[in-house]
Amino acid sequence: MAFRKLSLTEPVLKALAHEGYSTPTPIQQQAIPLVLQGKDLLGCAQTGTGKTAAFAIPILELLQAQKPLKPGIKVLILTPTRELAIQIDESFAAYGRYAGIRHTVIFGGVSQHNQVNDLRRGTDVLIATPGRLLDLIGQGFIRLDQLQIFVLDEADRMLDMGFIHDVKKVIAKLPEKRQTLFFSATMPPEIQKLAAVLLKHPAKVEVTPPSSTVDKIEQRLCHVAKKEKPELLLHLLGNPEIRTTLVFTRTKHGADKVVKILQRNKVRAAAIHGNKSQNARQAALADFKNGTLRVLVATDIAARGIDIDELSHVINFDLPDVPETYVHRIGRTGRAGNAGIAISFASADEKEELRDIQKLIGKNIPVITDHPFTENAHVMAPPPGERTARPSSRQKQGDRPQNNNRGHNNRQPNRQQPVKKAHSPAQPKPAAHQHQSQPKSQQPQRLTLEQWEEEERW
Ligand code: AMP
Repeated sequence: MAFRKLSLTEPVLKALAHEGYSTPTPIQQQAIPLVLQGKDLLGCAQTGTGKTAAFAIPILELLQAQKPLKPGIKVLILTPTRELAIQIDESFAAYGRYAGIRHTVIFGGVSQHNQVNDLRRGTDVLIATPGRLLDLIGQGFIRLDQLQIFVLDEADRMLDMGFIHDVKKVIAKLPEKRQTLFFSATMPPEIQKLAAVLLKHPAKVEVTPPSSTVDKIEQRLCHVAKKEKPELLLHLLGNPEIRTTLVFTRTKHGADKVVKILQRNKVRAAAIHGNKSQNARQAALADFKNGTLRVLVATDIAARGIDIDELSHVINFDLPDVPETYVHRIGRTGRAGNAGIAISFASADEKEELRDIQKLIGKNIPVITDHPFTENAHVMAPPPGERTARPSSRQKQGDRPQNNNRGHNNRQPNRQQPVKKAHSPAQPKPAAHQHQSQPKSQQPQRLTLEQWEEEERW
């Protein structure tokens, strides 16, 4: 299907051609006609599916049809993070290149001066994060009485980030008569409740639920002791095929630590997370996009919505607590039809997270066995009842002798060596053979207290 079939006008078609888009993505195919008809929309879709264009394109069309436009903000797009807000604004700039629709973005963490100046010049579309929006409404710089369309983007993330009260305050300021577009990657009960408050007889569009959107991404798992994760990361980065990689850590502190280690080893890296200033985050993102940085280390909230075309790898340095987050993370790669590779590090204390992730995605992540750090990995036993479904875990459990002497001076990894199996699933050896070749007493079963403590130090 071509964009032309969606009855779009020439300025928008020309801009899409300029972007190199030839075919609408599934969410665009479904959502664009519904929004053009003026319907409320409940969209279950995550970033990476083309969701931004799915609302930006019909909004541009609806506004164009009203030309000459009356003054006032006609469209409000509320989004949880500054990065997302900027990206949505960039999308309006790109798809609206020939449309002559004014758009402005406002977000916190920077001076309001330029934003207020932009607002004074007048805007048709306002893209905002909740705090700054309420702030500027409070100061009298923003009025929403001319509003026609309200878009709530990433509603689940908005709630996760504790913006529910701000969102409610914004909703209270919207005109009753309006079109509302509501997007969320997941639809837990509290999101459904919020949707019920906001939407009137919505049309529902759902693209590939989170667990299946990742099918095109090659996923790999490395069992590794927690304290050896930095070395494993450095080892993987010895592979020049990893041109750019986004590395996810669970904590801000962890992100900073990883960056320090990488920089010490001459890897161009920076971190983005909530403790970094807006300018530092923007600079890191820009350097990563233009190739100055090879590695961007991020926490989940900071990375949400980061839109980097041609990101070749995502590395989960830590597994996320919430399994859906795994899907969001690895969805940063493999975008818009590009191939992507996601490598996850799993230490012994992350077995529950791993189990939940594999349950969500409905498969076991193929294990890379030929990295130098498997020895101390303390591979987890598969959950009861799933033994036959987890050949890789079982194979690994019998695969390595336990090394109680946790030093590894005798096996310095060669960082120049590419990781052989990073691009193809590790082939499990027959489990029977593994168990025969390994005396039972040497099979790692659980960590000793000392080992736990040692790992916790990381
Ligand atoms: P989003 O889900 O809005 O974050 O978009 C994900 C990525 O897909 C962005 O890099 C867009 O530029 C790109 N994209 C969106 N729509 C299309 C399309 N129809 N064809 C190709 N790429 C697209």
